[in-house]
Amino acid sequence: MPAPAEPVSLRFRQGAGRSCLDFVRTLRHRGTPDAVEELPDGEALLAWVTQCGPCADVRPGKSTAQEARELREAVHELIAAARAGEKPSAHSRTAVNEAAARPAPVPHLNPDGALHWHADDPVRATLSLVARDALDLVTSPAITRVRNCAGSTCAALFLDTSRPGTRRWCSMGTCGNRAKKETLRSKAAAD
Ligand SMILES: [Zn+2]
Repeated sequence: MPAPAEPVSLRFRQGAGRSCLDFVRTLRHRGTPDAVEELPDGEALLAWVTQCGPCADVRPGKSTAQEARELREAVHELIAAARAGEKPSAHSRTAVNEAAARPAPVPHLNPDGALHWHADDPVRATLSLVARDALDLVTSPAITRVRNCAGSTCAALFLDTSRPGTRRWCSMGTCGNRAKKETLRSKAAAD
């Protein structure tokens, strides 16, 4: 089944299958010479929480972009350790535990049937959700379904929910398509 096309107008990439994996991806092209920091400042952090978090009225809170980046790297380390079957470092474990311990957004069903999420500090609360998602992922069987995108410079992680477990790209709309085009091009060149 083809993956649904992602809207191209959104600032941050989503669709990795878990919020913590989408968050890890804000260091785009991680580990390559083309790495891009997508959370350089508070404005970027607000924008990420607005786009990817559940709260409607996102405003600046206590979390700084640096704190968010540190949490992101700790989440990345936890996931890498879990995938390798290793114990997490005390540093990353503590960082993610502390973020997860903070209040998360609270759901509220409106009279019109719409779900509304509230938090006193929406940014910090959304980071708490991300941390909780990471703790859940690294201790669940789903961790064996976390893959590295096969795109040559993508470096994104994603959750493979395909039945045979053979998904190769973070998204067919971007990396999958590019790989297809590259194959076609090299075929054409060989003809
Ligand atoms: Zn990719």
